[in-house]
Order: sequence, then C-alpha cells, then structure tokens
Amino acid sequence: MPRKPLLCSILFFVFLIAGCQLKRRSVVRRPRLVVGIVVDQMRWDYLYRYADRYGEGGFRRLLRNGFSCDNTLINYLPAFTAVGHTCIFTGSVPAFSGIAGNDWVEQGTGQRMYCTDDSAVLAVGAESAGSKEGKMSPRNLLVSTITDELMLAENFRSRVVGISLKDRAAILPAGHTPTAAYWLADSSGHFITSSYYMSSLPAFVDSFNRRELVKQFVSKPWNTLYPKSSYVQSDVDDEPYEGKFRGDSTPAFPHNLDSSYKVAKSSFRYTPDGNTLTLDFARACIDGYQLGQRDITDFLTINCASTDYVGHQFGINSIEIEDTYLRLDRDLATFFDYLDEKIGQGEYMVFLTADHGAAHAVGYSQNHDIPADYWNPGVVAEGLNDVLGHAFQTPGLVDTISNYQVTFCMKTIRDKKLDFNAIKKVAVEWLRQQPGITYAIDMEKVGELPVAEPVRSMVTNGYYSKRSGAIQLIPNAGWFETHGKTGTSHGTWNPYDTHIPLIFMGWGIRQGHTNEQVHLTDIAPTVAALLRIQMPNGCVGKPIVGALKK
Ligand code: ZN
Ligand code: ZN
Repeated sequence: MPRKPLLCSILFFVFLIAGCQLKRRSVVRRPRLVVGIVVDQMRWDYLYRYADRYGEGGFRRLLRNGFSCDNTLINYLPAFTAVGHTCIFTGSVPAFSGIAGNDWVEQGTGQRMYCTDDSAVLAVGAESAGSKEGKMSPRNLLVSTITDELMLAENFRSRVVGISLKDRAAILPAGHTPTAAYWLADSSGHFITSSYYMSSLPAFVDSFNRRELVKQFVSKPWNTLYPKSSYVQSDVDDEPYEGKFRGDSTPAFPHNLDSSYKVAKSSFRYTPDGNTLTLDFARACIDGYQLGQRDITDFLTINCASTDYVGHQFGINSIEIEDTYLRLDRDLATFFDYLDEKIGQGEYMVFLTADHGAAHAVGYSQNHDIPADYWNPGVVAEGLNDVLGHAFQTPGLVDTISNYQVTFCMKTIRDKKLDFNAIKKVAVEWLRQQPGITYAIDMEKVGELPVAEPVRSMVTNGYYSKRSGAIQLIPNAGWFETHGKTGTSHGTWNPYDTHIPLIFMGWGIRQGHTNEQVHLTDIAPTVAALLRIQMPNGCVGKPIVGALKK
C-alpha cells in the first residue's frame, strides 16, 4: 500500500499551498476594482452650484458616502488636459514626467510634438492602419503611473484599461503596461487603439462599435432637460461670447446636431452625449474584461471629456454647461448602480476629480465689471520678434508662444553665435511692459526672481527644459490665451483653473470631508497607500491620510 501515503502527501501540499494563497489574499486586502474618473474641465464649485437639481445617485452619492477634499489644487503650470491626467495618475509634475503640455516644441530641434504622437505604431480599429488618429502611445511619458505600479505589484495579473474620447486622456492614465487604452476616432465614430497595445480589437469592442451609437446620438437635437427658464444658475441662452455649432446661426437651444455633424464630425464631442457614450463604453469594458470580477484588483480609468468641449465652446456660465452637468449626474448614477450590481457595493473604490478648471468667458466677466481680457499669443510673438530683430539684427528669433511660454529659434541663435542670455533679457524687459502680463519669467532664473508664491513653485514644477519654452508668461487674473472671442479656456495658475474636485468613495474610504489644502499630486500616493503598492517612480505627492479608513 505505498500509494496512500503518497496521495496523503500530495493532498497535504495542495492544501498547504491553497492555505498559503488564502492567507496571502487575506493579509493584503485590496478592492476588487479601482475606477478613476476624471471629469474634464470640472471646476470644484460645480459640485455645489447645481446641487439642488442633482439626483441622489450621482454627485450627491459621492458627497454623502465618500470623502471629499474640498481644497484640492493643481501645483504646476500649465493647467492643460495631458498634464492634468499625467499628474493624477503619476503623482508627478512636468519637471519629472516630461508631459509639459498637450503639445510642445522640442527645444533642441524645434520639432512640434503632440503629447501622445508615436510614428512607430499603427492604428488598430481605425479606417486605415496609417490613420493619424491611431498612431499614439505613452512613449513620451517618462515616469510610471499608479496603474503601472498595480501591474508591477500584481506581477501583471491585473487588468488595466483606460478610456476617453481624447487619445491623451485614455493613454496617459493607463500608463506603459496596460491591458488596453481606447479613444474615439471622429472619422468613424468608433473606439480605436494602437499597435502599442494590441494587433486587433477584441470582439466586444467591435460589437460595441457596430452599434453606431455616435450616429444615433447626433440624429436627435440637443434640448434642455428642464424648461429653459428654470436654469437660474446660468446666463441667458444667446450671448455674443458663446460659440456656435458649425452651421448654427445662434448659440441657443435647440442644437441641431445632425446638421453640425455633417459639417464637422468632431461636433459630437461638444454635446453631453459624449459623456453618455464614454460611460456606456466603460460598462462594455467592465463586462468584456471581467474587470473586478476575478480574484485580483483591476483598474479602470475614465475621462468624461465632453464637459471640456462644451465649456470651451459656450463658456462656464452657459445653460449648455449646466445641462451637461445635470445629464452627467444622471449618467454617473446609472454607472454607480452598475458597479454595485457587477462588482458589489463596497467592493470597489472610485475616485472622481478633474484635470483643470476654467475661467469665466471674458465677455461675461466684463459685463459684470470683473477685470478680464483676451490675450493673443500670435500678436505678442510678432511684436517680440520685431523688437528682437532690431536689437540683434536677426529676424525670426521667436519660434512660437504657446502654453504661455516663449520658445526661441535655438538653431538660429546657435548658428549666429548670439548671446542667448542677452536675448532673453531684452525679451523679458519688453514682455513685462505688455498689457495683461503680470510676470515674464526667465525659467532658468525663477529661483532668484521676486515671484510670489504659489506661482514660483508652480513654474518650477512645470519646467522640463527639453520641452518647455525659455520664458514663462503669467497673465493677469481673468486674462487667457485665445485666438477667438467666444467661450473659455484654462491653463493659468489662478484658482478658477486650478481648484478642482476630488472625492474618493467605497472600499477602504472614510466618509467625510476636509478643507485642508491638498494637491493633484496627492491622488496617486493616496491610491498607492490604499492598495498597499509602491507609489509611482516620479511621485512627489503625499497620501491624504484622512480619506483612508484606519
Ligand atoms: Zn482637460
Ligand atoms: Zn480644455
């Protein structure tokens, strides 16, 4: 009977291993799923501004059951989408992450770069593999994300998915090692990806795309949820400082999306339906990848981008923005119900924040006697080029002004052996005399100059010398960079651009709120602490301990 002791031994070891694994899971407890929702251009005050008409299941549920950090500030410049998403998921700032803007100029070569452009990869799911819409990857991101760190901690057994209408807002949060990142191709109205991630779309994404939801959404006009006269928190519906849909004669409701879509397919993004589509697709991804439904922690990142497009077009005091948030509130409630059903209430952790806020439309501020004006970088660059051309007998020394930074033509300066410091000195002297400019700062000298906090630290944090311009411009409050005269924008240090919502809810999170100042860089280390994983490798923030259960 020699086989019985052998069988007993095998069974003993099987139970021992199973026991060890059970023990490991019980020691390091983690939520089944983490969902990071970034509402693009969401100002902190929207949580309260429209609260009387929010339902119980969306923003109110977050505030009631979650932990709200009511003074969360962005601590770098410039406050743009790619930089914000990078900061949220890396805990890092452009000085280390290298994501210095949505676009930048490579300072050494003068080459224009979009943050997620990658000529080495191909589009997947797009109308052609060479489509520019899909030639995207995270290769310009120089640090790890919290999603990468989860993958590393779980030895790549987790599933990480990033989604957005915007390529950059899907790609940067999902990091270098995700299962997938998907974004919307306007040309087809389909979610696509790139060969960085996979060689073909999964069947569930194909069948989602076959539903042609974009075309269905634009077939109906956008009208208000409630009678227009009840939008008492918004300006009147037809103001000269509101932008119009292409083909529309006024910026007023109802917006006939069908005709605008025929002229410009990107017009779909400028409607609340863009958020509805994104959250529909989020549910498809939860099903398709079984996120949070295995014995391991998964991570889903979602950017609701339409809030940003609507804000840019109509301004922040428009009925369009109020209606977009009321609709997003409903969509969030449906999404949270779905998470409860699929993952289980209390089994997932969701956080909601924003990548930046936005200013009041200039016309709106001026109507109410609040100082504000437009600032046209092209005109300023032309004026500066004239001044420098005379001073140094060389035309075209300014390459461009973008991201509120002056980029010089370094090749000309090198070829002509000009004194770069002398050029910067003349440029700063002239720029600081221009209307609407508070500071013109030589980036290399920011530490020595009389620049008031928090601007000095924000400039330092935002400066990555290979991709940032040499002079940082700080406009007056209420002034912003624009080429048009309608809608609004963001990018500056001011609280309207940098004070954003941050609420954690669910597994491991205390109920409550704090008015203590925290920063966008603190989100990733807080999630790292909750998950008991390493913080990302360029992280400069610290955990918000008040949000975490003991
Ligand atoms: Zn944004
Ligand atoms: Zn924007």
